[in-house]
Amino acid sequence: MKKIPVHFRPHKPTRYIYQKLTICKQCRTFTALDEQQCPACGKSSLVPVEQYAVSTAKRSMLTSLLIAVFIGLVGIFLSNTLLQMVLCGAAGLLLVTLLWFVQRQVMTQEMNRALLVLLQQDQDRLGQDLYRDWETAFSNWDTDKQLTYELLRELSTLLHNDTIRLQQVALLHYFALRKDMDLVLEPLLITNYDPLLADYIGELTKIKRDLIKDSAFQYVLNYELEILGLENGQDILAGVAGAAVRMKRYVLSYSGLVRRYAHKLPKDRFLRLYRMIQQNPHEMGDRLTSEVHRIYQEKYQWDPDFQESSIRG
Ligand SMILES: [Zn+2]
Repeated sequence: MKKIPVHFRPHKPTRYIYQKLTICKQCRTFTALDEQQCPACGKSSLVPVEQYAVSTAKRSMLTSLLIAVFIGLVGIFLSNTLLQMVLCGAAGLLLVTLLWFVQRQVMTQEMNRALLVLLQQDQDRLGQDLYRDWETAFSNWDTDKQLTYELLRELSTLLHNDTIRLQQVALLHYFALRKDMDLVLEPLLITNYDPLLADYIGELTKIKRDLIKDSAFQYVLNYELEILGLENGQDILAGVAGAAVRMKRYVLSYSGLVRRYAHKLPKDRFLRLYRMIQQNPHEMGDRLTSEVHRIYQEKYQWDPDFQESSIRG
């Protein structure tokens, strides 16, 4: 299969996941896709949910202010003497000023409360709307794989399930992956074995080793036999062992995996492992230490890079 060269549009991370959502002011439909028009009524009335919550909170505050003004006016209207009028007027003004001052202090809390009410009251609707977004994203699969991937990536911050993860992994399989791409691994790890995910991990060991962390090592260990059944299974596992070599902690935690594929490590990764063992001669376990020595004797005994490290070590 010919891989597609792609340049992903920048993924906008948000502090809170609800910041991905917009809501239609007309029909209260939610969407997490970067749309101009409401997907339900077609009007250009989408606003971020935060903005919507701010205006809801402001509206209820304005209502309370108007009620306070009204009470003041009624007081003035019912007064019999000028003194009563002045007193009612002053009391009304004081009430409005106090209310306005308090409202200013609690604006953020009120906004958060309005937001919570909005998201909780309309939970079912939000769920349905997100599934509609998911279908919209998926409908581009045949025509624009990059767009589909980008939309699914945005949606997966709100929808958490293995199907949407696997769809992203499957799409990544079509792309020519590069170091400078904004790639992720941990959010895409699924519970079951999937050969495309194993393959993706293998690709990452070549271009973005630092994405391979504990959960990925665990995944590979859980499905080592299945991965070995793949045509490039040995290479994937050797790549993962090479990724473990970047930290002593990983070598200690996954020493079995490192030992089983140490013979397939490229020279730079093996040299790193060799030095780690030389610097920590009693910590890395007998089996791993003896395997590394065996490989060293077999392949690198006369290699000047290793000689230098022996002296230093
Ligand atoms: Zn609408």
